[in-house]
Amino acid sequence: PISIFWFRRDLRIEDNAGLFHALKSEYPTLPIFIFDTEILSKLPSKQDRRVDFIHQAILRIDSQLSKSDSGVEVHIGKPSEIFKSLFEKYEIKEIFTNKDYEKYGIKRDEEIAEFAKIHGAKFHSFKDQTIFEKNEILSGAGTPYTVFTPYSRKWKEKLNDFYVKAYPTEKYFKNLLCFKSEIPSLERVGFEKTDLIFDKPDYNLKIIENYTEKRDFPAINGTTKLSIHLRFGTLSIREAVKVAMQHNDTWLNELIWRDFYMNILANFPQIGENRSFRPEYDNIKWRNNEAEFEKWCSGNTGFPIVDAGMRELNETGFMHNRVRMIVASFLCKDLLIDWRWGEAYFAQKLNDYDFSANNGGWQWASGSGCDAAPYFRVFNPDAQALKFDKELKYIKKWIPELNSFSYPKPMLDHKMARERALKVYKEGLAKI
Ligand code: FAD
Repeated sequence: PISIFWFRRDLRIEDNAGLFHALKSEYPTLPIFIFDTEILSKLPSKQDRRVDFIHQAILRIDSQLSKSDSGVEVHIGKPSEIFKSLFEKYEIKEIFTNKDYEKYGIKRDEEIAEFAKIHGAKFHSFKDQTIFEKNEILSGAGTPYTVFTPYSRKWKEKLNDFYVKAYPTEKYFKNLLCFKSEIPSLERVGFEKTDLIFDKPDYNLKIIENYTEKRDFPAINGTTKLSIHLRFGTLSIREAVKVAMQHNDTWLNELIWRDFYMNILANFPQIGENRSFRPEYDNIKWRNNEAEFEKWCSGNTGFPIVDAGMRELNETGFMHNRVRMIVASFLCKDLLIDWRWGEAYFAQKLNDYDFSANNGGWQWASGSGCDAAPYFRVFNPDAQALKFDKELKYIKKWIPELNSFSYPKPMLDHKMARERALKVYKEGLAKI
């Protein structure tokens, strides 16, 4: 008899809640990972940095576990079918995993839990991705917060050592099932190598200490770029919060935004159904011009800060947060394109793509979200560039042809677009 630990977006062996509980169970633990073809078949390209990242993270874990004569048993397929074969191969008594809060993950886990039950096995899942879950931070009236500031205040009040204590998995590695693993190549998974470099997840304390002053300037290396690690769990959020508490409160706030949006999704699952958090925003008559959308996607709007951001995204899979806000505002307000188009484009391209943070960011920019910018606040892209990239360093990095004839003229007059947006928003919102 064995227990299984199922890795998903928690790709580390240190301070991993579900793995800890699995290792403490009565039965030797077999760690598994499934390259889920339900998810992979929807990816637009065979060169996907995220799949490459996951593959490298699994190789790393496998090599760490090999020191205990164990490893990761890797499968490719639909989780329901893989579990069927696992139950045929092993006498499984318990399955351990960490909770997933996205729509697909919830449904998948319900199915596997049910399947396990039929086979007489227990299914356990643990909080690991967030510090607090949906019912842990509530207002005095017992309802979830929809505004960040009071949420973060309560979050900080409630935080104590208990919530950030590391799970000492290493004490129990002797309970791993001994076996010889064989990790399939990336090609075998159906993907190709990308330019992604799997850097060791680490904290750059200099960046964190100077974060408050430097985080808004895209030309400076002023943010941690840890988002991909927090997305796939190659870093523990508990550890990140401990570092933030010791070094910088502004950075801690960003980690709280992450928890906040995850809990918005958990408490208001309708946002996972393609709907605006504020329903009246679904009455806005978007222009949705496809040729204009194409200019935005490819970074050819003629607004340098917008184009630099989109080119950074297209080339690297990353975009600085300040610039994410600017390009999102430009799409929703200046072009009057449905924020869901932008959300979907980011979902394809971002290495750190996470449903809750991305949806939160887009609904913030369009004005339709919880605690969003009021709709009449429209970013002026040139003024933003002047403020945050005065020396054009970031812009010139991504648009070397800035001053030549080959760079397009602005696709619209921002003043006109701003007024048009205010009018269309006002009309849409008046419908309720
Ligand atoms: P740092 O500035 O060093 O921040 C530390 C960590 O805090 C980040 O790694 C991230 O995990 C978290 N964080 C920071 N800001 C936010 C935020 N506003 N919301 C939630 N978490 C935050 N972030 C994603 O992780 N995935 C997304 O898909 C995503 N989509 C976005 C879409 C839009 C339109 C906008 C405006 C923002 C989006 N963000 C998203 C938030 C933010 O831009 C990125 O987390 C940040 O740029 C990542 O860089 P960093 O790791 O250097 O962050």
